[in-house]
Amino acid sequence: MENHPQFTAMASAAIHAAQSDMGENAHLVPVYATATFTFDNAQQGMDRFSGTAPGYIYSRFGNPTVSVAEKLIATLEAFGIVQEDGSPLPLKALLHSSGQAAMASMFLANIAAGDTVLTHYSLYGGTHEFLFDFLPKFGVKALIADLHDLDSVEKLLQKDHTIRMIHIESPANPSMRCVDIAAVCKIASAYSVKVSVDNTFATPYLQQPFRYGADFVFHSTTKFLNGHGTAIGGVLLGKDLSLMQKVNKTAKLLGGCANPFDTFLLVQGIKTLELRMKQHCSNAMRVAEFLYAHAGVAKVNFNGLPSHPDYELSARQMRYPGAVMSFELKNGFDAAVRFIDRLQMCVRAVSLGTLDTLVSHPASMTHSGMKKEDREKAGISDGLIRISVGLESVEDILRDLEQALG
Ligand SMILES: *Cc1c(COP(=O)(O)O)cnc(C)c1O
Repeated sequence: MENHPQFTAMASAAIHAAQSDMGENAHLVPVYATATFTFDNAQQGMDRFSGTAPGYIYSRFGNPTVSVAEKLIATLEAFGIVQEDGSPLPLKALLHSSGQAAMASMFLANIAAGDTVLTHYSLYGGTHEFLFDFLPKFGVKALIADLHDLDSVEKLLQKDHTIRMIHIESPANPSMRCVDIAAVCKIASAYSVKVSVDNTFATPYLQQPFRYGADFVFHSTTKFLNGHGTAIGGVLLGKDLSLMQKVNKTAKLLGGCANPFDTFLLVQGIKTLELRMKQHCSNAMRVAEFLYAHAGVAKVNFNGLPSHPDYELSARQMRYPGAVMSFELKNGFDAAVRFIDRLQMCVRAVSLGTLDTLVSHPASMTHSGMKKEDREKAGISDGLIRISVGLESVEDILRDLEQALG
């Protein structure tokens, strides 16, 4: 990045910060499909292992294609953020094979038996299961609190000194509830508690949690960052560079490393992030307004609507409210199944953040394994539909939704 001019917009950084310095003058980042790297002699091998000489060793520890993506994402997540002394915020990014792998590296590197992680309702299913079913086997506790109630968060931190981390997902699926990241970070730092943010739904274009004091940010790059649904991936970012070295050790041990080909696809996808997000968000606003006005729809959960409880917070904390929302059909499960089956253009699939509009029915798909009463506690009624608004012409999206609802 040292050779680059100051970019005035994230779009330019997304396109130009992916340049590699690997020789050969390749226009795009080359795919380094190699498991290992050669040493000229024993001394060089020794020096690389001890860290006294630069150079790659083995692709689980690092790979040139992967390094380009890590620098690119770090540039975007830190874009325009300055520290107290006026210097740009340095960030370290670690690319992983999936969002889950990035999340696991983060928690496993930062907590130990006896520690507690504080979080909120309606987390991504994989994160919830990791915190509440998996970590307890290793003596780690997870606790749910209403992170909107800052007084009670502070009281909890005062009382319970085992709380080491607060984990936030904002906006969170399917309610699209948001958490005031700056307010939570302020309280957390007074108690030396680290804050991590799952920024998957927002991407760095819509929200930069490091601006608000977050210690760690992770993304499932599978979603909007890749943007085309071509690969699973995840990234973990941190601002404490020595701590990130420790996290890197854990990541290497867990072995969830990104592969170079998926990374190439990711880098290509990221280049259009700003352009895509603008259109995703403007289409989503139209879809939300359409659904809100529709007689068959009981409720729309979208942080871009003034009726949403976090409308003002979202407007303050995010550039635009995003492109994922959920809505409830008046006639429950049967109406939801009928709606899903009648879609002609929008795609029936889980996941989100792809070019095409993806529609899913949590009660019969992602959350069908859960008991109905537990689903309802998590805000997932039988008539709830989730939609990730794509980049088709918004007129075509609206027409398809209208005929499927009719
Ligand atoms: C998809 C997703 C994840 C998990 O990421 P994978 O790439 O599927 O491992 C985590 N958090 C959120 C918010 C997600 O949408």
